[in-house]
Amino acid sequence: MPTLGDSRISLYFHFPFCSRKCPYCHFFVLPNKSTDKANFLPSLLKEWELRLPLIHNRTIASLYFGGGTPTLLIEGIAAILERCHPDCEITVETNPEDVTPALMSELYRLGVNRISIGVQSLNNTLLKHLGRTHTASAACAAVEITRNAGIENITIDLMYELPYQTLESWKETVTRACALPITHLSLYNLTFEPHTVFHKRQGTLSPHLPSPEESADMLAFACDSFEAAGLKRYEISAFGRPSIHNSGYWTGRDFLGFGPSAFSYLEGKRFRNIPHLNKYRKRIEEGHPPVDFEEKLSPLASLHERLAIGLRLMEGMTIDTLPLSTEKILIELEQEGLITYQRPHLALTPQGCLFYDTVAEKLILID
Ligand code: SF4
Repeated sequence: MPTLGDSRISLYFHFPFCSRKCPYCHFFVLPNKSTDKANFLPSLLKEWELRLPLIHNRTIASLYFGGGTPTLLIEGIAAILERCHPDCEITVETNPEDVTPALMSELYRLGVNRISIGVQSLNNTLLKHLGRTHTASAACAAVEITRNAGIENITIDLMYELPYQTLESWKETVTRACALPITHLSLYNLTFEPHTVFHKRQGTLSPHLPSPEESADMLAFACDSFEAAGLKRYEISAFGRPSIHNSGYWTGRDFLGFGPSAFSYLEGKRFRNIPHLNKYRKRIEEGHPPVDFEEKLSPLASLHERLAIGLRLMEGMTIDTLPLSTEKILIELEQEGLITYQRPHLALTPQGCLFYDTVAEKLILID
């Protein structure tokens, strides 16, 4: 049963390069240009040296290479693993169109033991709407190639609540996904994030979204199917063998992010690296941490945020003492049928899973 806090630390490396930008993506992503990649890597390695004292004497729980598409810069993954190779979960994100037997064998040789593949859908028409360049069969092949290369811990991302998506097509995607040799699956509903192409086109796309009833049916079908396939729901949007890295976010473990736009959470302080390649590089050249935002939450705000995040876990969380004002909120949420609260344990109810945003808003806004 997770409790608040974890003395270990997780490390995240943001590799911001992608072959093309997906129209719904709100991450800091740059075109896959060899000059930018060549400039990025020395800065990342300098940032590593600069921040080394922060992880001195800490046990590393996980490494995560995300982005972007980190496999577009495999020498960067190799360079980090040369400097830091703890015996822990090491995840690399990739996209189906980039997966080849040679790439996966190389990652296996480097000691990578978990691969996250951006499958998104197993319907070719929807993949086109999402601006993705892979096909459903290429996505399935990518999973098989990874497994055949010896990496058996494989997670895929799937998206639902997409424009033009029907319950029928979603059922096909879920059924095909369940037949793949995966250990984990993350489920996302589409959101129209500011500064994305989809956000600009929201007016024309929205009429083609599934209705709330259809979306609820999609989620229910997915949960039942994944469970039957041995992928148990352990977090609101995650199924299967729990990710050590992501579990750290939900239990309040410290994490340190490297690379432009990467977030960190360290000893109660949250900070973000500059989401701009040249500014990021300049700060590092000058010997400064490349940070453009930092904040330290008050103890109460920090507690509430960690309650909100910890509640995402299906098994809930335990917490011994709470201020009266927090107790009051929890009792209200319990009376609304959104959580169960039997001191010292609290967890979402099935209704609370459906309306998690309401629970989180109520907790986070109190301060
Ligand atoms: S591949 Fe992933 S990170 Fe890259 S643009 Fe698409 S959604 Fe964003």
